[in-house]
Amino acid sequence: MLNPGYTTVSKFAIEQIPPGPHARDLAALLVDVAAVTKAISAAVGKGPLLGLSKLAGSKNVQGEEQKKLDVLADELFVRGTEWSGLVGALASEEMDDVQIVDGPGRLALVFDPLDGSSNLDVNVAVGSIFSVLELPEGARDLKAVLQPGSRQVAAGYAIYGPSTELVVTVGSGTHGFTLDREIGNYVLTKEDLRIPASTSEYAINAANRRFWEPPIFRYVEECKAGREGPRGRDFNTRWVASMVADVHRILMRGGIYMYPRDQKEAHREGRLRLMYEANPMAFLIEQAGGLASTGRSRIMEVEPESLHQRIPVIIGSSEEVERVARYHAEYDSGDDEPYTSPLFADRSLFINT
Ligand code: MN
Ligand code: MN
Repeated sequence: MLNPGYTTVSKFAIEQIPPGPHARDLAALLVDVAAVTKAISAAVGKGPLLGLSKLAGSKNVQGEEQKKLDVLADELFVRGTEWSGLVGALASEEMDDVQIVDGPGRLALVFDPLDGSSNLDVNVAVGSIFSVLELPEGARDLKAVLQPGSRQVAAGYAIYGPSTELVVTVGSGTHGFTLDREIGNYVLTKEDLRIPASTSEYAINAANRRFWEPPIFRYVEECKAGREGPRGRDFNTRWVASMVADVHRILMRGGIYMYPRDQKEAHREGRLRLMYEANPMAFLIEQAGGLASTGRSRIMEVEPESLHQRIPVIIGSSEEVERVARYHAEYDSGDDEPYTSPLFADRSLFINT
């Protein structure tokens, strides 16, 4: 039974956003973004019926093939927010450059309209990620948008899974809403999410193992050694390969998610994008008591240099992220003692038979 006093996104925004010159604009923008994600949720929910998971026949500026739903979701974000006079700049994964919006808007909305779109064909949860920044007075260009994540005034994502959820922070905790399709509203269902400090679940694409830097290798090998290893307990791997789905799981029950820098494409600083993937997720994770690191610094303190900049991402339960950051520091200073498995150290186990 629905609680008659349920909290919608607009009620939440009015109650939670701290007073300030742009508080009302931010509240209104969050309501618009929520409406955009309802439309994307409806389109995603059609599955193959509308053919939207097919390739659009175009590539974005980063050279990635766009699906029809990538393009549609991007347009829904633009058309759903540019009209209002609230935003002065829009930028997304699918755009070549920042889109300036004429008018009084002092907020910038940066977004990944559809995260995990390669998973559309297999009916696995996908999502939308967004970040809101305040533009400096009179500034309306790329430079005005390229602010570190610590300057975000709001961030969130929608996850289109068995149910659609919207997870939001405005800097006072991280809160989850569930879309009630019958009433057409998001309803607050998960107030003040808290990520446990320790965890026994880690998420990483292990196929890239041979490209990892030694600190990541050390951490994962120690997890895999389980009860017999230096960690003294067993771990499990979880990997959906959809950032929103993997981070959502961590927000709900803890864990660590790693998309580190690797040597596979040595010129790249990781795979995920700072402005519209790493920063908003870092804000949400930190507001829930977790940590978000590149391995060598706090993600939200990285000064962005370009719109589509990539960054290593290590986020989740605080004790685990601290441990991975410590392994990076020990490696960089030459103090590390990489774990070697007794199974492999004791070769007799395999050859003296
Ligand atoms: Mn993405
Ligand atoms: Mn995307």
